[in-house]
Amino acid sequence: MRAAYRFRAYNFTADQSTLPTYQAVCVTGDDADCGADSGPQESEENLNRWMAEHSRDTAHATFRRAQWSYVEVQPGAWR
Ligand SMILES: [Zn+2]
Repeated sequence: MRAAYRFRAYNFTADQSTLPTYQAVCVTGDDADCGADSGPQESEENLNRWMAEHSRDTAHATFRRAQWSYVEVQPGAWR
């Protein structure tokens, strides 16, 4: 017996009630990344300060950086 699937559109709305956060992980290292993690920061300025302090203390210079934001997903019309 074959299953039949119906597809549904979804709506994505930025969650305005939650502020975005900023986070970085130190990826400096030849064999393995350092892995030091800033944790969520309230602003890009705070994140830059964390990276600068980590770089000052360790001479590490390469980070993976992201801005996290929140989104609401609501089911929409069936297709
Ligand atoms: Zn590091």
